[in-house]
Amino acid sequence: MNRLLLMLTWGLLALYAGGLGLRTDSDHFSLVLDGLIGGSTQVVAAALAWSNLRGAGRRRPEIGAMAAGLTVFSLSNVLYLVLYDRGVVYDFPGPPDYGFAAFYPIAVVALGLAAHREIDHRSGPDVWMDSVLGVLGSGAVLAVVLDSVLVHASGNPLGASVALFYPLCDLFLAALVVGVMAVQGRRLRPYWVLLLAGLAAFIVIDVISALSLITDSYVVGGVTDALWCLGIALMATWTTARPRPAPEAEQHDPALFLPGLATVAGLGVLVVAALNADSQRVSRLALTLAVLTQLAAGVRTGYAFRQLRRLADLRRQATTDDLTGLANRRAFYADAEVRLRQLAARPCALLLLDLDRFKEVNDSLGHQVGDQLLVEISRRLSAAAPPGHRLARLGGDEFAMLVDDVDAAAAEHLATDLRAEIARPCMLEGIAVRTDASIGLVLAPEHGTTLSLLLRRADIAMYQAKQARRGHQLYSGESDDSGPMRLRLLQELHTALDQGQLLLHYQPKLNLRTGEVNSVEALVRWMHPQRGLLYPDAFLSLAEDAGMMRRLSQSVLEEALDQAVLWRAGDHPLAIAVNLSASSLVDAELPQEIARMLAARGLPPEVLEIEVTEEFLMADRDRTRHILARLRDLGIRIAVDDFGTGYSSLAYLRELPVDDLKLDRSFVFPMAEDPRAAALVFSTVELAHSLGLTMIAEGVEDEATLTALTENGCDLAQGYFISRPVGAPALDAWLAERAQAEAQPAGRTSA
Ligand code: C2E
Ligand code: MG
Ligand code: MG
Repeated sequence: MNRLLLMLTWGLLALYAGGLGLRTDSDHFSLVLDGLIGGSTQVVAAALAWSNLRGAGRRRPEIGAMAAGLTVFSLSNVLYLVLYDRGVVYDFPGPPDYGFAAFYPIAVVALGLAAHREIDHRSGPDVWMDSVLGVLGSGAVLAVVLDSVLVHASGNPLGASVALFYPLCDLFLAALVVGVMAVQGRRLRPYWVLLLAGLAAFIVIDVISALSLITDSYVVGGVTDALWCLGIALMATWTTARPRPAPEAEQHDPALFLPGLATVAGLGVLVVAALNADSQRVSRLALTLAVLTQLAAGVRTGYAFRQLRRLADLRRQATTDDLTGLANRRAFYADAEVRLRQLAARPCALLLLDLDRFKEVNDSLGHQVGDQLLVEISRRLSAAAPPGHRLARLGGDEFAMLVDDVDAAAAEHLATDLRAEIARPCMLEGIAVRTDASIGLVLAPEHGTTLSLLLRRADIAMYQAKQARRGHQLYSGESDDSGPMRLRLLQELHTALDQGQLLLHYQPKLNLRTGEVNSVEALVRWMHPQRGLLYPDAFLSLAEDAGMMRRLSQSVLEEALDQAVLWRAGDHPLAIAVNLSASSLVDAELPQEIARMLAARGLPPEVLEIEVTEEFLMADRDRTRHILARLRDLGIRIAVDDFGTGYSSLAYLRELPVDDLKLDRSFVFPMAEDPRAAALVFSTVELAHSLGLTMIAEGVEDEATLTALTENGCDLAQGYFISRPVGAPALDAWLAERAQAEAQPAGRTSA
């Protein structure tokens, strides 16, 4: 039905226009052509709008309004034709004119309804400003054009104003449509052009007829009469379109074309007025409109300027990292992708950089210090990077750098430099904070030409660098990245447990009072068949996630206790501390299991110490107390590991069955350089003592720290300065060497 009416509308229009075109000057108004064909074109067009309303229903109320408007207009036209045919004479404006005039307010309603649905309500007042500006600017031009109307109509002010009313209303509507289109920006729906074209047809014919009506030169049945029908047909066709649902709102650039055009139009009027100042050919109305246009354009331009600035601001915010001011992930992706394409065959390197132990800094010194550290690291990276680099913070403690024109050697050199920069201690809130980074390196085009592939491979290389504590790692094609790394590692870990690939390294604890070593901490390692020795941070979280922790802890306990048996049999018995994760501690059978292991080897409970984290202590106090009490009842010592990084307090530890406190190394390593950090450590030692706890300092890396700890009453110390964690044979050798070193001076005195 709709299609039929659409075809009928345009068919009738073509017939009507063709008929008008063929008409000779001597022909007059014809009832068939002007009345029947012309009149019914409009009536059919109105019917078309109504039939579209049926299809669109309530979702598009603007169709109803437009159909009503077109009906009023086309019926007024029929009335006009009938009166004309009957030769009824009436003063202008006559009865049909009121009908024509009524079309406009109805059309405004239709437009308002459509705009309401079409326009994203987050868009600002620019639509209305543009529309006002459009009306004023074109009004000024029109006022000049229609000046003669005003002059001639001095005897019939109502007639003049009604004649002017049509084109002005057309213009107002057209300006609104342009406003709507301007606001849609890049999402412009083309079907609005139909409406604009319809109104343009109205403007042309309304101006022509206003001039000819006033000058009494209007002849019914001219070729131009077809323009009304064309306008009506276009507007009816507008109701046919099915706009797609509005896409997600996006920022659009403010349309400056319309305000620009209106400003030029207004200016033109002012120029014409100035040139014709003597003859005063430009009316006061036109001048006033032109001046108002300039004022409105000023306001509009100011607004557009503010909008542009806001857009620029938003764009900047969307591409920079708030904290560090570096480019963010989004900007890096967009930028690097383009660069890679531009560089094509020229070599460039991508460095993926991840800070080591950043979580520790955050947890122990607070997020504020963590943030400051990131800012400082960003600053250093920017300063150390070669010219033309692209640097971004991808998130958290991860950075990426793209560098042009470098080969493998130069990239590795750069990685070494960057790490050296990062490793320099940062003074943050009076504390010397030191951190390291692991860097994965890839080269383009050698390792890939797309950013996603390069990033994935850089990630693999970075992960390897972290695991092997190598600092940086150039991606090597050997590491097959086809399968998901984690999954493969998990399968390998199962095999490792089955085949006994896990082994223990032992780190001695030095008794600072006696200078003796009576205990060690067991630290798990994985001798991976391909990757070599792996450290706990490479596989513990994986084992935890996969629920393998219980098995792992059991295997560690067995091996540690086996080693304790050996040491007891030798001349240097050592107690061994084993780290137990929260997940293996909650196992209700664990205490019995440990008791069984000890009994099976004929070991006394004192040889074993369990290290638990603060995180475990804080989780569920009643349950924790219960588990620890059962272990303690067996005679096993309990140590709180990484003390100071969690949220427990000394006062609260008093309630728990705990023997030792291991102060986390993040407190110990700044001691040598920072008196405030040292004071903090010493007061913790005192408090621990007052609660009857033994204090163990972790991470002693230099002699000054060791001396200070000894002088201030710390009980035990552990750290690289004393010994790194090593295998049992190496530890035996180390102990033997120490014994010898102590014995030698004594030997000399006795000799
Ligand atoms: P942790 O229990 O705090 O162990 C001390 C860590 O500090 C060890 O790292 C050790 O190598 C390192 N360390 C010792 N002295 C120094 C020093 O002077 N400077 C520095 N920078 N580091 C030092 P490792 O072996 O990588 O162990 C890391 C963590 O993995 C351990 O922290 C522990 O929480 C966990 N872990 C190790 N073995 C096991 C295990 O068998 N079972 C469980 N559940 N966790 C384990
Ligand atoms: Mg430990
Ligand atoms: Mg620790």
